[in-house]
Amino acid sequence: MTPQDLGRDAVAAMAAVADAVHVARAVEREAAIGALVKDDASPVTIADFSVQALVAARLSRDCPNDPLVAEEDASALRAPDEARLSARVVDFVQRVEPDARLDRVLDWIDRGGGAPGRRFWTLDPIDGTKGLLRGGQYVIALALIVDGTVELGVVGCPRLTLDTMPGRAAPFSAAERAAGGIAVGVRHQGSWWASSDDGLLVRLSVSTVADPGRARVLHSVEGTHSDAARCDRVLRTLGVDPPPLLMDSQAKHVVLASGQADLLLRLPQSRGFHDTIWDQAAGSLLIAEAGGRVTDVHGRALDFSAGRRLLRNDGLVASNGLLHDAVLAALGAVSS
Ligand code: AMP
Ligand code: MG
Repeated sequence: MTPQDLGRDAVAAMAAVADAVHVARAVEREAAIGALVKDDASPVTIADFSVQALVAARLSRDCPNDPLVAEEDASALRAPDEARLSARVVDFVQRVEPDARLDRVLDWIDRGGGAPGRRFWTLDPIDGTKGLLRGGQYVIALALIVDGTVELGVVGCPRLTLDTMPGRAAPFSAAERAAGGIAVGVRHQGSWWASSDDGLLVRLSVSTVADPGRARVLHSVEGTHSDAARCDRVLRTLGVDPPPLLMDSQAKHVVLASGQADLLLRLPQSRGFHDTIWDQAAGSLLIAEAGGRVTDVHGRALDFSAGRRLLRNDGLVASNGLLHDAVLAALGAVSS
């Protein structure tokens, strides 16, 4: 299997995400993370802006008619007192996009304000910005949505290796253990991992753990992103033994898709909170195409046709499939 076998959109998306991983690594290496705080109190960095500019530039070239729905906008960079920050962003984008200039970079970033239509792309340029800042996991998550369904998901993982995935048992080769890689899922064509050094595609499949007592559970690091106390009650009801593994970003989805964990829970802290589509689109397809199951806490399929947020879903339950019904039953039995 090669990226070409996965189709034109997959080739374009993987190439853009591969360069985005390169840019994010350069930002890290040069300790140029440079965070701002957004109106909602969440951080945004040079890496977020640079990656969004780059991926938007590539999509506008490769898929000019497709809208892009992405997390960031350039308003902060257009402020005169952020001239140094915007110059750094242009510098990083130029590493992989030589004709980048300030006006173009700002326009590329603002391409992310597109409207979700019948066919569109969604991007979280840096999913897990807090993980990036504290040395944890972060990913670049890009997905193609057609008629409310995710058709393609690409997750660039600068800090994840198959070798360091928790509880890993599969005999991966030395080449596959190189730092970082890209996970790609294509509807009806499976989920795959391309390591950074040789780019060969290795098939991802979920685990076969059917005993809830042995389930390896993934949960957010950030306490405000998912209700850890409720998660604990659900896991006690299920008789889960190992403590949850805390990890930032859709790196969790990749780990679940690879069979190195069995269950991922995301339980909203407040009624009425709905995830943004770019926080679940790419990762959910990876899990489904690796043989797993993804629903919200009520057992409903994720519906990506409700705008920039998953307004018709509450939280997330993702599993290897075998554990899913037991988890939904435990969630129903445990009050929120
Ligand atoms: P994670 O690392 O899995 O906790 O998820 C990171 C994502 O959580 C970020 O991309 C944010 O979009 C999203 N996020 C930010 N605030 C919240 C919140 N209050 N509840 C749930 N998710 C959030
Ligand atoms: Mg995010």
